[in-house]
Amino acid sequence: MDKLIHATAADGTVRVISAVTTGIVAEAIRRHGTSPTVSAALGRMLTGTLLLGSTIKEFDRLTAKIDCSGEVGGITAEATKIGTVRGFVKNPIAEPPPKANGKFDVSGIVGEGTFVVIREAGFEIGFRPEPYVGSVPIVSGEIAEDFAYYLAKSEQIPSAVLLGVLLQNSEPFVAASGGVLIQMMPGANDHIVTMIEDTVSRAPHVTELVKEGAGPEDLARVALGVIDFEVLDERPVSFQCTCSLEKASGMIAALGEDEVRAMLAEDNGAVMNCGFCNETYKLTVADLENLLETIG
Ligand code: ZN
Repeated sequence: MDKLIHATAADGTVRVISAVTTGIVAEAIRRHGTSPTVSAALGRMLTGTLLLGSTIKEFDRLTAKIDCSGEVGGITAEATKIGTVRGFVKNPIAEPPPKANGKFDVSGIVGEGTFVVIREAGFEIGFRPEPYVGSVPIVSGEIAEDFAYYLAKSEQIPSAVLLGVLLQNSEPFVAASGGVLIQMMPGANDHIVTMIEDTVSRAPHVTELVKEGAGPEDLARVALGVIDFEVLDERPVSFQCTCSLEKASGMIAALGEDEVRAMLAEDNGAVMNCGFCNETYKLTVADLENLLETIG
């Protein structure tokens, strides 16, 4: 099962959030049928969004979005405070040749554009203040660096971000996925910051560790090196969408009686697809007739 932890180090001046997300990324790939390079990009985005989302107390939903000129066209991921995440890409089948070092050319399919973070709160109490929106230009397209740049520029939190997806040739196509987010809070000692930067730059790929069975705590240890840390909490995380047959029916009903009658006459039913999870909801003639009764 996928897990996420929160930890602190250096008297609370360093925050560490790490997660193993192998199951989440496998589910996303299965649902969207993404090419290998897009799978890597979407997987990093889902993990980064989950890590970032878990750092913010006052929110119900955090969306991270890449609007870009590259072949993938755009990537959206949305995390909730209960540890669920969902996401999609505009073009699931973009597949450029690998880079010279054999790695997936994620920045190649992202290209140039904007990295946007939207935080929304108040759903639970039925009060929706204006969402908080922050955006920065895409500086790398490899995604981890883009999360770090966003945090430094838009939220003034110097951060280090490691995100990785290791694919395999057979189902579920993901051998390992995980990430670490380290945030330097006000008062962080320069010496500690330098030590962390140095450790992170030399850290082995998180995916190799996860493949060997490492959990989130092991990932935090690798990212922090010799610096002691304390785990504050651990929680399960998962890919989960908020769509349902009931919501799909509601959306069709909202189109109005004439539209539903046209669906009955012309299409013998209705089909709705959820962009976030690629689930298809089919409404039969009987379903639509029942719906008409509720509208009328
Ligand atoms: Zn859905």
